[in-house]
Amino acid sequence: MHHTSLIATIVAGLGLAFVFGAIANRFKLPVLVGYLIAGVVVGPFTPGYVADTELAPQLAEIGVILLMFGVGLHFSVKDLMAVRKIAIPGAVVQILAATVMGIGLAHLLGWSLGAGIVFGLALSVASTVVLLRALQERRLIETDRGRIAVGWLIVEDLAMVLALVLLPAVSGMLGGEAPPPGPGGVAGAFAITIGKVVAFVAVMMIIGRRVIPWILHRIAHTGSRELFRLAVLAIALGVAFGSAALFGVSFALGAFFAGMIMAESELSQQAANETLPLRDAFSVLFFVSIGMLFNWSVLLREPLAVLATLAIIVIGKSVAAYLIVLVFKRPQSVALTISASLAQIGEFSFILAGLGVSLKLLPPEGRDLILAGAILSILINPLLFRLLDKSLPKIAEGGTPVAANQPHAVLVGYGRVGKAVAEGLKNRMLLVVIEDEGDRAAEVREAGFEVLQGNAVRPEVLLQAGLAEATHLFVAVPNPFEAARIIEQAKAANPKVKIIARAYTDADVDLLTQIGATHALIGEQEIARGMLALAPRPKPAPAPAH
Ligand code: AMP
Repeated sequence: MHHTSLIATIVAGLGLAFVFGAIANRFKLPVLVGYLIAGVVVGPFTPGYVADTELAPQLAEIGVILLMFGVGLHFSVKDLMAVRKIAIPGAVVQILAATVMGIGLAHLLGWSLGAGIVFGLALSVASTVVLLRALQERRLIETDRGRIAVGWLIVEDLAMVLALVLLPAVSGMLGGEAPPPGPGGVAGAFAITIGKVVAFVAVMMIIGRRVIPWILHRIAHTGSRELFRLAVLAIALGVAFGSAALFGVSFALGAFFAGMIMAESELSQQAANETLPLRDAFSVLFFVSIGMLFNWSVLLREPLAVLATLAIIVIGKSVAAYLIVLVFKRPQSVALTISASLAQIGEFSFILAGLGVSLKLLPPEGRDLILAGAILSILINPLLFRLLDKSLPKIAEGGTPVAANQPHAVLVGYGRVGKAVAEGLKNRMLLVVIEDEGDRAAEVREAGFEVLQGNAVRPEVLLQAGLAEATHLFVAVPNPFEAARIIEQAKAANPKVKIIARAYTDADVDLLTQIGATHALIGEQEIARGMLALAPRPKPAPAPAH
């Protein structure tokens, strides 16, 4: 029955993921746990049916492509540049720290330095899928800390692309198998890799940036929704595959750039929505395929080494990331979010471990430890985020504002919109501002308003701002889904409060007013209104002729 193995793998993967996911949900565990267990069940290390171990990782890779494409869609070149100052040094220092710890553990286990380097590098890079899912579930992708985390991840991805290319070249020096030397040796390989990455980025920025929006635009004008969806998918997968084949960059990176370029066209929101269902299905297969790789006997054979590996991933890397973020003078909330986001490993680690074993640099037990560390850290990750959710409102600074005990207005978000609203309200009503970012919160204080630092999505934060006494709530956050959650909580806390919310599309307006917003305003329409206000007054009607 070999010819149906693709179908069998998809069916078994999705089917069992559903069953175990539902069971996990029933026991109030993250559904991820269920997906991983489904993978272990269909994997080669448990008796019974074994899914195709060649096909499953490829299906998983499609999930990675679609996820990174989605992230690219919400990212702009500007966002990436805005976080480079912290993301580049942060990722580099964290990779170094994890690698040093990996080398230390390898030394204790009696492995060579080369084995230690591969092992440490594999522990240093976080999984895209795990990170994005965690951020998406909490709607953090479009916050400052979400952007830093994603930028950091992209730098890690780039570093791993380099590592994958350089490893064969330096393998001989490190005591592994040396392939025939290429032209120019290690320095040559390095230069070629950098050159390819630069060429890829240049091609995307110069050619892709013109061609992709043009294609989408043309297709949108055909009026065929089906063709449009197909175009989006073909471009995402095509760019990912093409960039990997031609430039040797990872699928994930290629997809990210495809998304980022599409984000510049106004059709991007539509494009994002078109890929959502497919993305979710394939990211499930990603977790199943990781479960399949897991040889659980390592837990019994080397429990201490497994624990030490896990400690490097969950504790060592987190502490390093936390300190780096604080050195850059970012607030606690950012430091904790970055630490939690990156305290896991995934797909890149497996690729690196596989390469290390094939070059005879890394002993096979190293790969087992990496897999065990990956599975356990992925399992622990949702718990870390739960802790984070719990601890953040507590570090919401400022205590209960004085104004919170009398009729007042609450304003969520002190960015481009919120700041102007606050200024305008200054002499009209008492105001309490909720702002998530530390620097911004400090700005609010300087401007003379009472402020609560925290995420308004959390009901405790809204209550602390005195929402129960408030007459008005202004929701000036950019993410409409987040706005919807804030409005929901607010209505529950105070059904009478008047809610004025920020929206982008007519669909947002419908959603937000349905949930309880009194008014929802679309930025673009307000700009139009402002423009008209600056236009010449209408001519007085001509005097009637006698
Ligand atoms: P802008 O898009 O320039 O108007 O900025 C939006 C502001 O809202 C930023 O300062 C964010 O930190 C802040 N913000 C976004 N989401 C939340 C939230 N859920 N709770 C509190 N502040 C938020």
